[in-house]
Amino acid sequence: MFSQRLTNLTPYVPGEQPQDRSYIKLNTNENPYPPSPAVMDVLATMDADALRRYPDPSMTAFREAVADAYGIDPAQVFAGNGSDEVLSFAFFAFFDGSQGPLRFPALTYSFYPVYCNYYDIPYETIPLDEHSRVNLPAMTDAGPSCGLIFANPNAPTGIALPLSAIEAVLSGYPRDRVVVVDEAYVDFGGETALPLIQSHPNLLVIRTVSKCMSLAGMRLGYAMGDPALIQALFTTKDAFNSYPVDAVAQAVGVAAMKDMTYTRERIQAVIASRDRFVTTISNLGWRVRPSAANFVLAGKPGITGETVYKTLRDAGILVRYFNLPGVADSVRITIGTDDEMDRLVAAIRQCWPE
Ligand code: PMP
Repeated sequence: MFSQRLTNLTPYVPGEQPQDRSYIKLNTNENPYPPSPAVMDVLATMDADALRRYPDPSMTAFREAVADAYGIDPAQVFAGNGSDEVLSFAFFAFFDGSQGPLRFPALTYSFYPVYCNYYDIPYETIPLDEHSRVNLPAMTDAGPSCGLIFANPNAPTGIALPLSAIEAVLSGYPRDRVVVVDEAYVDFGGETALPLIQSHPNLLVIRTVSKCMSLAGMRLGYAMGDPALIQALFTTKDAFNSYPVDAVAQAVGVAAMKDMTYTRERIQAVIASRDRFVTTISNLGWRVRPSAANFVLAGKPGITGETVYKTLRDAGILVRYFNLPGVADSVRITIGTDDEMDRLVAAIRQCWPE
């Protein structure tokens, strides 16, 4: 009944979205604030009759809005059903193992090996450096590769690399192989590699509206790079689904892209809450890595991440625990509102009195 392909699949496991009771939900890096009022207006005034028609398969208005927001050309922009789908198309379009394995960090977004498994792409992972940073030099020094992918800031560490590190790796990397930078969290304190797409036709920057624009429920992500890369992503999309971005998502995406002032304000609020929270739990004796994202990886010395996760869950607070080498002593905590973070700190004080 089932294909051999299906039998061999190892799916990604997303963070839980429990429906059983209400939790303070700090486990999937969602934004605690509502989307822009401009998004609310679009949804409130949407003409349902227009839904009779298929959406624009070229996603023109949204791609133009992205291009305007970042000062690039719409031909340099692709969009998809969440950046997960854009990533999946990129894995299909650019990586096939013919010039060596795909390389990515040993600790990063755990969907990357899942896509490799799905598309049968050989891959090799490279350990983080002694400061838990993505080790870009080691990723290229390890021998030929068919491409590179990494998240900046990285997940689940939250640690960001400076633009100079990305520039250095690109300058020594073959121009006929693609380097993907997954910038899902860049708005919360990382340095974007976007300016480099003008001089590096093999660089693809992938972003999402899920986190910085509070639209995770919408499923809209995008990629920016040389028009030839964008064209390859369109070819991939058109061999899979002509309309991955529905009409509502396209209209909402345009409104969100045009209201960067609101986005920036909310990002600043998340950053301020993060910095305040990091100071507080450091003072309580927790280890926290320096995060440039809307989450922090933190642990209490002597207690496993799994215990922290379970204890907080019982206290009505969801965080994420990864049973992976190097992070099993920590949990990943999404930054919520100040009130949510205060309630988390109160629970921490109660569960682990000093
Ligand atoms: N990249 C990274 C590093 C992520 O953590 C996530 C969120 N799980 C994504 C991409 C996908 O985000 P989305 O599909 O919501 O755009």
